[in-house]
Amino acid sequence: MILLSGGTGTPKLIRGLRRLIPDEEITVIVNTAEDTFISGNLVSPDMDTVMYLFAGMLDESKWWGVRDETYHTNNALRELGLNERMLVGDTDRSTHIFRSELMRNGAKLTEATAQLSGKLGVRARILPMCDEKVDTMITTPDGIMHFQDFWIGKHGEPDVLSVNISGIENACLTEDVIAALESEENVVIGPSNPVTSIGPILALKGMQKILSKKKVIAVSPIIGNEPVSGPAGKLMKASGIPVSSLGLARCYVELLDALVVDGQDSADEVDFPVPVFKYDTMMTSAGKSEELAGFVMGLFSSFG
Ligand code: GDP
Repeated sequence: MILLSGGTGTPKLIRGLRRLIPDEEITVIVNTAEDTFISGNLVSPDMDTVMYLFAGMLDESKWWGVRDETYHTNNALRELGLNERMLVGDTDRSTHIFRSELMRNGAKLTEATAQLSGKLGVRARILPMCDEKVDTMITTPDGIMHFQDFWIGKHGEPDVLSVNISGIENACLTEDVIAALESEENVVIGPSNPVTSIGPILALKGMQKILSKKKVIAVSPIIGNEPVSGPAGKLMKASGIPVSSLGLARCYVELLDALVVDGQDSADEVDFPVPVFKYDTMMTSAGKSEELAGFVMGLFSSFG
């Protein structure tokens, strides 16, 4: 099974999938358009979350960072007068340093991720969507800023006029991503932000063409007219996408064999351009993640 993932909704689904199939049978193609440098080291928030999940290290109360983390370096830097843009724990920082050292010595992000995954005992395949640096830039009335400055620095408060994935036109599908997609029939577009998490993955040259030949099921991150969490609503609106599962379906229409929407969603199934299935998508526990993952797997089996 292949999943396209950001750093919150889809990892919750993966938490359940891992209870049903071995990690070795899971490949995750992860958004890297929110990556940023903190004190000289590359932070890859979505990949770190997915990696820590498989390594059993993730702080699942926040869906980022390492469980039982310490913050000695962050605190010491603060005392020196350096306020980092992001709160980085000590163990988390060692991941960023290790990754960045490999890359400073010539490794591509894909290779660095494979090495890190190996060291952390991850048995799933975690693939960055590309090796080039790609940046989600948010245009606000105060100017253009990196996604992390908008979301963490300004708490997602400024109005959003538009979203631009800078550098995406020069980014390429990696050999590993292509090989993974060639060897697997079933792809899940997880319940992740369609603009800043899934959008960059689908914007890679050639990606949609490959996916259109696969069996693709998406799970909606939107219930009614609101995302379950995060800035998806604001960013969808700014990108001209109606904030609803129907808006999402229209976004992915060329790719989808089915869309799973929440049972509480009042959307009328006849309006959708793709087959729609209703199920409880609120993954408030590992058990609920497992039930939803089982439902998605059942849909793939029903395709024959
Ligand atoms: P990010 O990288 O941290 O922005 O994370 P993602 O893009 O992977 O996930 C953010 C999306 O996950 C948001 O749009 C939420 O609506 C969605 N989400 C979070 N938890 C759940 C859940 O339990 N169920 C569903 N359906 N969506 C969820």
